[in-house]
Amino acid sequence: MQPDGYCARLGMDEVARRRRLALMDLGAADRAAATAFQTAVVAPRVDDLVRAFYDRLLKHPEAQAVLAQGFRRADLEATQRSYLLGLGVEFWTRDYFEERLRIGLAHVWAGVGLPLYIGAYRILQDLLREALEVAGRDDLLPFLLKITALDMSLAVEAYHGVQVAGLSESLAALRADRERMAGELERDPLTQALNRRAILARLRARLGRDRERPLCLVMADMDRFKAVNDRYGHPVGDAVLRESVRRMRAALRGPDLVGRYGGEEFLVLLDGATLDTALEVAERIRRHLEATPIHVDGHRIPMTVSQGVAQWRPGESLEDLVRRADRALYRAKQQGRNRTVWEEVT
Ligand code: GH3
Ligand code: MG
Ligand code: MG
Repeated sequence: MQPDGYCARLGMDEVARRRRLALMDLGAADRAAATAFQTAVVAPRVDDLVRAFYDRLLKHPEAQAVLAQGFRRADLEATQRSYLLGLGVEFWTRDYFEERLRIGLAHVWAGVGLPLYIGAYRILQDLLREALEVAGRDDLLPFLLKITALDMSLAVEAYHGVQVAGLSESLAALRADRERMAGELERDPLTQALNRRAILARLRARLGRDRERPLCLVMADMDRFKAVNDRYGHPVGDAVLRESVRRMRAALRGPDLVGRYGGEEFLVLLDGATLDTALEVAERIRRHLEATPIHVDGHRIPMTVSQGVAQWRPGESLEDLVRRADRALYRAKQQGRNRTVWEEVT
């Protein structure tokens, strides 16, 4: 709970919250209804609800326009899912109000106008009403109407707040948050290297048709890594992976990119590097790892890496380039590991 959260900024103190609950006729008796609503109605069919919600919503041009700004349906669905799973849960708490205000603001930020918000909410209400019927819990209809009215009133408050209560700063903070989140979506949480999707996307973006500069790909795989896990345990293995990526990075220059391709397998993207340069870089990575054992929890763990290097051939597909780097890596393993092998340009 932040003391200077949205509630405080909108003057929504405890008294105001109690009044709001009274206005919506939400009382102690509704607490049990809130639980039943989640366990019997929402949770068992949340995925269906989310899917049906977007199917219906996206029939409307207003909603399509928001999606066209670059929001991914999968991300929106994940957000909607957690919204639904939180609907009514401990509705009497400050945290509940805080979260609802934040959600309202997030929609303002996403460029969702109030009419669209209300329209979307009506669809949701409809779907939830149908869900009550299917669950045989028509008795929860009064609760559904009250809780959705409460949420709606808080969303309107957030929209209003942006205009009159100087919430634009909060909006800027939210935007920064979102950018940070977008960055996180590209990162592998363990090593902070780019994740597989992100490194492949970067690679694809660079392999344009009219590309003239050279480009090399290094595929690196830790040697006998399974043995580290077996001997010291998985958390130590994790720490070794983190340190390995740190050392890889130390061997690279600014624009070079490291991505985690799989468990203990990494891709290094060297844009502008010829095969000679790439081999030098790969060897630097290899030596950085070999030079000093990795220290974790008082253990000294020797670690080496095998690498396959391939230089992109004009016109070559991403898949073929990756395949060639992988083949070279395979040969490095066969030749005894702790080495760098390349695929010659033919
Ligand atoms: P090789 O030299 O042939 O590559 O042998 P290896 O043991 O490194 O290769 P193998 O593919 O048999 O095993 C890879 C191991 O990496 C198995 C898997 O448990 C481990 N691993 C993959 N991802 C992680 C992770 O995130 N953390 C930890 N601790 N281990 C991981
Ligand atoms: Mg390995
Ligand atoms: Mg492997």
